[in-house]
Amino acid sequence: ERAPVVTIDGPSGAGKGTISQLLAGHLGWKLLDSGAIYRVLALAAIHHNVQLDNEESLTLLAAHLDVQFITGSATQGIKVVLEGEDVSTDIRSPECSNAASIIAAFPRVREALLRRQRAFNTAPGLIADGRDMGTVVFPDTPAKIYLTASAEERAMRRYNQLQDKGFDVNIDRLLSEIKERDDRDMNRSVAPLVPADDALVIDTSGIGIEDVLNLALAHIKSKL
Ligand code: C5P
Repeated sequence: ERAPVVTIDGPSGAGKGTISQLLAGHLGWKLLDSGAIYRVLALAAIHHNVQLDNEESLTLLAAHLDVQFITGSATQGIKVVLEGEDVSTDIRSPECSNAASIIAAFPRVREALLRRQRAFNTAPGLIADGRDMGTVVFPDTPAKIYLTASAEERAMRRYNQLQDKGFDVNIDRLLSEIKERDDRDMNRSVAPLVPADDALVIDTSGIGIEDVLNLALAHIKSKL
């Protein structure tokens, strides 16, 4: 018997990470940060000199990826360990963001990561954060949420997050990278970023975390 799943999908910077961590903490459930899997695969490709357009090699790398996700506190998020090395910060770099969205467009790469993602679904329940959690990875769950916000607001949030992590970032550049990434994620042929038909869509522009959390909790309660 599989545990209940809540899917949280949406574009970069919509607040998925924050809301997912809060929900997982609140419910005492597991958390899947699927973006971190694509990011760590991108980093592994860079480390091993695998070209970002080589679907065959990337698929092989995905199948054998030696990565561990160690659950942290509600505020710290997960720790990501690649081949024994803590890469939690490295995978958040703008370079890794872009590389992740490039390799995420390959159907066979996505296929190779499916089982790894579904394995996170254990008791007592799972909050699954990503782009295709409700459409592809966990389509059967009734509790689906899609978070969105304007590109400008999302760029501003990313700017603040990255600055806090010590990255040197430029707001205009970040905005154009977000738009570029949205475009790639929404227009790819496999698992494009789109709300599931049965997802609750929440536009988080201008509303506070508390309100988003309450909307999400009410939806989950009504569906599970
Ligand atoms: O969510 P995050 O920004 O960490 O994701 C990095 C990239 O990984 C996204 O831009 C997207 O291209 C890809 N991704 C995906 N499917 C997911 C999660 C992330 O294609 N479920």
